[in-house]
Amino acid sequence: MIDELAQRLMDGDRAALARAITLVESTRPDHQARARDLLTDVMDRTGGAWRIGLTGVPGVGKSTLIEALGGHLTAQGRRVAVLAVDPSSSRSRGSILGDKTRMGELAVDRNAFIRPSPSAGTLGGVARKTRESLLLCEAAGYDVVLVETVGVGQSETVVADMVDVFVALMLPGAGDELQGIKKGLLELAEILFVNKADGENETRARRAARDLEAALHLFAPVSPHWTPAVLTGSALSGAGIEKLWQTVEAHRKALDTAGALASKRQGQQVRWLWSMVEDRVLQAFKADPAVKAAGPELERAVAEGRLPASEAAERLLKRGA
Ligand code: GDP
Repeated sequence: MIDELAQRLMDGDRAALARAITLVESTRPDHQARARDLLTDVMDRTGGAWRIGLTGVPGVGKSTLIEALGGHLTAQGRRVAVLAVDPSSSRSRGSILGDKTRMGELAVDRNAFIRPSPSAGTLGGVARKTRESLLLCEAAGYDVVLVETVGVGQSETVVADMVDVFVALMLPGAGDELQGIKKGLLELAEILFVNKADGENETRARRAARDLEAALHLFAPVSPHWTPAVLTGSALSGAGIEKLWQTVEAHRKALDTAGALASKRQGQQVRWLWSMVEDRVLQAFKADPAVKAAGPELERAVAEGRLPASEAAERLLKRGA
């Protein structure tokens, strides 16, 4: 029998979606069990959204762009959900601010749903919650899900691995465009959007875009079916926003035609399965009393060079369940 909350969620009830996400984010075992049941109930209603990742340093214009793009999409009758992955977040003080004042118009748009990042935790934990929230948004009928992150640690890799297309926002830097850019980002991003290409910045933005194009040639493309696109625009004025969406559509079409979108998602799901299993196995192992008892001394022995790490690992593994 379908849970009442699952039914309300599938009927598009926002309060039910918010409640379901709260269950997904909870650490209480009974909540987690409920969240698993809920996800199982709604599973065949998931998968329908355009999953879009968005990254960029604080101040680059992510929330301004989400507001502009989100408004553009809801005006076309689409329903847009915005999620965030910010492992440093404590709800109020993360680098992605959780409050809805960042996206004032979208926050009051009937066809938009904005959820701040799950509060601080391990990146793996935050990522699990966000992936599950994404599925819940799909089950609730949102047809575009934007997942925002800042480029800290591995968060970009993690977000890129839960979306169909990954967009990096860039600043029109002051001649040092390429120095500040992480090599990893150029390998992940399918679309690069040089923001703030307005007023005096316009020429600089175009130069930055050219430099990025040149740099991209040094990397193997993320997918054999898509060559990364470099765009310029202004989230503030709205210039380039339509082109950005057209590029997202072109990316999807290219992947779809090649049958690569389905296999990309399948790969992501399977990697997610194993990463959850690995997390749980490791947690259980570390919680094992025999491992806990022997761990500190073995760690010391390795740290002091008295025992090879391989031998210490062997002894720990023999003790664990
Ligand atoms: P976030 O930290 O990446 O979410 O960045 P915000 O969207 O909060 O933007 C940071 C600042 O840059 C704000 O003052 C915005 O008004 C401004 N901003 C964002 N996009 C643009 C743009 O396209 N052009 C200009 N000139 N300013 C922008």
